Amino acid sequence: MAEPTIYELSSPGRQGVKFPEPDVPQSPLPTEFRRKDLPLPEVSEVDVVRHFTRLSQKNYGVDIGIYPLGSCTMKYNPKINEVAARLPGFALTHPLQPDDTVQGNLYLMYALQEWLKEISGFASITLQPAAGAQGELTGVLIIQKYHADREDTKRKRILIPDSAHGTNPATSSMSGFEVVSLPSDDRGNVDLEALKGLCDENLAGLMLTNPNTLGLFDEHVVEVIETVHAAGGLVYGDGANMNALLGIVRPGDLGFDIMHFNLHKTFSTPHGGGGPGSGPVAVCEKLVDYLPDPIVTIVEPGDEETPPLYGYAHPAKTIGPMKSFQGHFGIFVRAYAYIAMHGSQGLRNIAEMAVLNANYLLSKIKGTYTLPYDRKCMHEFVVEGVWKDAPGVRALDVSKRLIDYNVHPPTNYFPLIVHEALMIEPTETESLDSLDYFADALLKIAKEAHTQPELLHEAPHHSPVRRCNEVLAAKQLILRTGPKPNA
Ligand SMILES: *Cc1c(COP(=O)(O)O)cnc(C)c1O
Repeated sequence: MAEPTIYELSSPGRQGVKFPEPDVPQSPLPTEFRRKDLPLPEVSEVDVVRHFTRLSQKNYGVDIGIYPLGSCTMKYNPKINEVAARLPGFALTHPLQPDDTVQGNLYLMYALQEWLKEISGFASITLQPAAGAQGELTGVLIIQKYHADREDTKRKRILIPDSAHGTNPATSSMSGFEVVSLPSDDRGNVDLEALKGLCDENLAGLMLTNPNTLGLFDEHVVEVIETVHAAGGLVYGDGANMNALLGIVRPGDLGFDIMHFNLHKTFSTPHGGGGPGSGPVAVCEKLVDYLPDPIVTIVEPGDEETPPLYGYAHPAKTIGPMKSFQGHFGIFVRAYAYIAMHGSQGLRNIAEMAVLNANYLLSKIKGTYTLPYDRKCMHEFVVEGVWKDAPGVRALDVSKRLIDYNVHPPTNYFPLIVHEALMIEPTETESLDSLDYFADALLKIAKEAHTQPELLHEAPHHSPVRRCNEVLAAKQLILRTGPKPNA
């Protein structure tokens, strides 16, 4: 039986809160703000609590089960991060407060900057960008300004491998660059010959994700970077997927010029539902003057008695501010707590476990699912969700059937270069039991695809919403605040 909606529970005169008689003169609400047809339900407090609790139970999140969404790194978010972010000294400060009243916040941002620089091997960093995509935009604008300042005005081309995340070409073309797609070779690396053919005086830069979205570490990454540098271009690293590299490889040491982090992926701050996230951008020495304005820094060094005084630096050739104030401060607190909790050895363990978990899972399903690039993977891998002898079944059916097994579907149909792609990233926070359960579900579903394909076609069977038109559901979202139209 369908649960009653909060409108069906409504009963005239029922109230959640009784206000005392007012002890000040009453004045009517201005009529222009009043809507006569606002059908607010009349319900008690317990009705409201049950309504929202029921709604929350319809949701699926990483606190309920495995969420292997490739590229998105849906790892568990430790609750200590939330405790830290809610400390009143952090949560109740205002960005316009005088600097001397927020020295603790400034210190936290400074320390986070230093840690992220050390993790990535870069010279300076901005915490401003609101997410990965805005970090990319920041980086691409820095590339543009760098060439413009040198009056190197012919450089209008950005190269982007065909396995790249869609935000890479989007941010480049938004900034006015010509985007040229770079093919991958048959091992899933950048095709070096194709790269060499595109490196000339028109090249502004290359945006490279390494490990790439196939979950593969580019076997010639240093040569790729040197080739672009030799042609006068800069190399942007999409660092959304630092989970495989933490404590093992530093992109700055490999020769990357710029890189963004996704604190809401690698550093366990919550994401989904549109944010807030955080996409700090780190740069090499020759680009430090172009960073967004301002940057948290030490303005007066301390000594034995007095701590240093924190304030702001203003990069000399800045591209300007990218975000109001400092960015998403609450996310910085969570990332700081996470890094402090793990320490450097702990961060390295994260990367090792992320890679081990992905390879363990892959080894269990390989053979049953086709692996187009047969190599050891990093933190994620991509397989095909189709079989020649199970016509009609597609990757989407596999994903929908996983919902019946209480597993969130992996990323589907991305990267574009894999046919019927299922992109799977288990993350380091899943236990052996959880990986075995997931592998088992995938193996059972592959069997069902051959013996009972209708089970897959009709899935999911038990969710509050079955299959919907996913394009319309995202583009024409109907949020209902009133009773059902014909109820
Ligand atoms: C998630 C992701 C991005 C974009 O990050 P957002 O925070 O979602 O804007 C870019 N590149 C890669 C490889 C990603 O996985």
